[in-house]
Amino acid sequence: MDNLTVYSIIAPIYNEVGNISELYRRVKVTMDQAGDNWELLMVDDGSTDGSTDEIKKLANTDVHIKPVIFARNFGHQLAVTAGLDYAKGQAVVIIDSDLQDPPEVILDLISKWKEGYEVVYAQRTEREGESWFKLFTASLFYRMIYRITDVNIPMDTGDFRLLDRKVVNVMKGMRERHRFLRGMSTWVGFKQIGVSYKRSARYSGETKYPFKKMVKFASDAITSFSYFPLQLAMYLGFLTAGISIIAIPVVIIARIVGSHAFLGQATTLIAVLFLGGVQLISLGILGEYIGRLYDEAKGRPLYIIREAPSKEL
Ligand code: UDP
Ligand code: MG
Repeated sequence: MDNLTVYSIIAPIYNEVGNISELYRRVKVTMDQAGDNWELLMVDDGSTDGSTDEIKKLANTDVHIKPVIFARNFGHQLAVTAGLDYAKGQAVVIIDSDLQDPPEVILDLISKWKEGYEVVYAQRTEREGESWFKLFTASLFYRMIYRITDVNIPMDTGDFRLLDRKVVNVMKGMRERHRFLRGMSTWVGFKQIGVSYKRSARYSGETKYPFKKMVKFASDAITSFSYFPLQLAMYLGFLTAGISIIAIPVVIIARIVGSHAFLGQATTLIAVLFLGGVQLISLGILGEYIGRLYDEAKGRPLYIIREAPSKEL
């Protein structure tokens, strides 16, 4: 029967107890309209608020629900990755479980897929119920990513998207630990198209992306698709070297002429502190990349499963 699964919906869940049954209800109504067989992979990313039991309880009432339960919290991107690994469908949809991505939009994604597109990403035209801080940092983030990376990741897209089986198979082979899925699904190529939608407010609960996780997410995105931060050290090096090459003759001539404008410790101190700062920042940037290299070299599993459906097709 599983051979016939056409659509897989992946919902990463981290402490979303108030959203699970509503998510299921709306996904079911939508997918029943789609007409073909579907499965809803609920990936429990180490929830501690009873979401796990809620998922299992629902799974007992409907075989469409496939619980994938993690041994601990591994993060949103790895929860979705596990979903991709276990999905059996010909078209795989990634959706947030807080109902910010309206499940009804899946039908629009599907109709583009049926036209032959292999990656259909949902692009938000409006966002409801977000703080100005979130909107500001998100907009800054997307514009910066767009400028400094080599892949042209479409603006204002989240992970809400449909991937064809061909794309999923390629992405399953990309086992990097620090991942930025929307970048990866752009990087693979294939026929891509966007569908615009209005992003809603969270149905229940609070965001699971505190500032610290947002920073980690942004640095994973940048380091996995760009060497720009590493090059920054070189640019700054050229700049300060250039300034001193100009400054040396200027100071010598000033001294010969009899000016004492450049006496004093303040100038020296400022120069030393500036360069010290630049060097420490450069070291820190190197550290970010080296730490990620080390994580990759260890080759640990990306996530640990406590309970999951069988992988055989
Ligand atoms: N999420 C997760 N693991 C985490 C953090 C978040 O699986 O460590 C899930 C969360 O349950 C939700 C999705 O990732 O389904 C997006 O998170 P959230 O809605 O908190 O992010 P925001 O929309 O505020 O950016
Ligand atoms: Mg959300």
